[in-house]
Order: sequence, then structure tokens, then C-alpha cells
Amino acid sequence: MIMSFLNRVFSPQTEAASPTPWRDDPEVVPWLHAKFRDDAQVVFWEGRWVEQMWVRLVAAHGEGVYTGQLLNQPEHITAAARGDLVRVRATAVELYHLTPEVEADLARYAFACQGCNLDMLLDPVAEVLAEQSPALPIGASVAQFTTRCPQCDQAMVASLRG
Ligand SMILES: [Zn+2]
Repeated sequence: MIMSFLNRVFSPQTEAASPTPWRDDPEVVPWLHAKFRDDAQVVFWEGRWVEQMWVRLVAAHGEGVYTGQLLNQPEHITAAARGDLVRVRATAVELYHLTPEVEADLARYAFACQGCNLDMLLDPVAEVLAEQSPALPIGASVAQFTTRCPQCDQAMVASLRG
């Protein structure tokens, strides 16, 4: 009876359905804590404030997007507080906090930095456009624009998808 219980608990099926896919994501692995392999360093970005904080990953949504619990209390970031569930996105550069605005922009635009390969903006597109093209009507759809990469300052091209 004991053997059959063990077989059920450690069945290959259970192991195949890994609940921790971030541990196998090459864009997440560099940012995981050496001992606590579900805790990742995530960059939070808000205006001129940047804070790197620990997030305990709990769920995966595909395309490098994960949900986790913020473990630190931010000093300047107001979009999240310790204990909040936040969404994060793995990129070739860092793990970034994903605000609802930035996530919506990612669904509309494809981003490509010519320097560091970052494929997202960290500020909402509406704010970036308002700052660099004040004459545009608010909420205007721009098929393509170039801005500065927030990470490396090189040119970043944004193109409407589809
Ligand atoms: Zn860049």
C-alpha cells in the first residue's frame, strides 16, 4: 500500500506539469535568487524613478509574462506596494514590471531597440508621444514612430501591429 501511494505522489505526470516554468526561462534565470528560485529581481519604472525589487513568481501567462507577489516596499514607486500581485515581463535586457498601460501598448505596438534589443517601452506610448510630439491629438494612433530606448538611449522603433 505504501508503494502505491508513493508511485502516485511521484508519478512522471506530476513532474512534467511543472508549476515553475520561470526556472526554465533563459530570460528569467539570470534574475532569480541563488537559493530562492521563485524570487526574481524586477525593475520597476515610474517617471524618473527606477527601483529594482524582489518579486516571488507564482504564475506564468506565456510570452515571458508572469505574475508574482512584490516582496519589498517601494520607496518611490506608487504603482505597487509590498504584498501586491504584479505582472512582470522577461526581456533580453531585464525583468520589467508590467503596468496595465504598458501591457496594452505591447498588444498594439511592436518595439525594437537598435542598441540593446529591448522590445518594449517602459512609459506608456501616450505619454511618450505627448512629450515628443506635442502637436499630435491626444490618443492619436501613429503607425510608426521612433523614440529613445529607455534602457540604452539608442533609437527604438515602434510599429503598430497588424
Ligand atoms: Zn536599448
